[in-house]
Amino acid sequence: MFDPSRVNAFAQRETPFYYYDMDLLERTLAAARKSADTLGFHVHYALKANFNDRVLGSIRDTGFGADCVSGNEVRRAIEAGFDPDKIVFAGVGKSDKEITYALSEDIFAFNVESIQELEVIDALAGALEKRARVALRINPNVDAHTHQYITTGLDENKFGIAHWELAEAMETLRGCPHIELVGIHFHVGSQITDLNVFKSLCVKANELNNWFDERGIRLKVLNVGGGLGVDYYEPDKQSIPDFHAYFSVFDEFLERKPGQEVHFELGRALVSQCGSLVSRVLYVKNGIKKNFLIIDAGMTELMRPALYQAYHRIENLTADTGTYGDDTKHYDVVGPICESSDCFGKEVLLPLTRRGDLIAIRTAGAYGEVMASRYNLREEIRYVYSDQP
Ligand SMILES: *Cc1c(COP(=O)(O)O)cnc(C)c1O
Repeated sequence: MFDPSRVNAFAQRETPFYYYDMDLLERTLAAARKSADTLGFHVHYALKANFNDRVLGSIRDTGFGADCVSGNEVRRAIEAGFDPDKIVFAGVGKSDKEITYALSEDIFAFNVESIQELEVIDALAGALEKRARVALRINPNVDAHTHQYITTGLDENKFGIAHWELAEAMETLRGCPHIELVGIHFHVGSQITDLNVFKSLCVKANELNNWFDERGIRLKVLNVGGGLGVDYYEPDKQSIPDFHAYFSVFDEFLERKPGQEVHFELGRALVSQCGSLVSRVLYVKNGIKKNFLIIDAGMTELMRPALYQAYHRIENLTADTGTYGDDTKHYDVVGPICESSDCFGKEVLLPLTRRGDLIAIRTAGAYGEVMASRYNLREEIRYVYSDQP
């Protein structure tokens, strides 16, 4: 349970800062690990969701691998102690430099997103006298029923190889002596809360797995990506996602051939709920039509609301100490950045709020700190851990 008094213990700190609940993180990772282990599934953590040092350390200690989308993420994973044998590298635009670096570190596999990329990896691997392991990222045309900006598995998206290009991809692979095809990969979107989406993904994955099998190719790995969503509206109701229900869908509907491994790439589900952005109210502007709370955090610290109109629950932590009355008011909670989209929530019902109150923006552990920018020459992002003195 999120404990406002615990956050208030950091009230003397300069705001804004990210607050990481390390206990919740550990329990979330343990739950995911247990459910995955029970079914024999492998998890690669999607580093892009959060690569804060201690968060990453906990994830490495859980024994998960790493799913990276840039050469620097591969480097960060290796520096953090992830086994290169458990690192995968995805992304539509891997540069030659990034591919060469990943090859030199002997990562487990590249998730390849185009036919041309196969040729480039083959040439670069040849130059290094290496053999690259690749999984073909196939766009399964499954609708993730999530925000259009975080849908990735439809024909109109830029990600992956289309199913009608598969024959051509196989033809290309025959001319790539420095590539070993190890599997197929999918990632259909993020913040997916309807498990039927994953069921549809399994149906498509089965068809494709059979397509390869019929051609005498036994894939070692079926990588079904990530995307499991979390509850942004009631973060304390189910602060640990139902990993068992999620993995069970794949156990039930994904057909594995003898020896095939199933890989997952979870990001958001593992780290969202452990993070909150803590900020202080700078000004209260009471108007006729609107009341504004102007806080000292902005889209530069948490970009999700401005980027994809994401909802985050907002709480007044100072009021939660019990010294405030029962009066409430609706506020638009906005940041200091010179952009109209710099708004964390409209018409948010809060206790009567004063200048200096501490505000928590919840469920900010994923795609929060990692997207921080220096726009308006803002300060470097700060963070605290719940277990630090
Ligand atoms: C972002 C990403 C993920 C993780 O997605 P979540 O929704 O955070 O679980 C997994 N795989 C790939 C290829 C990604 O780009």
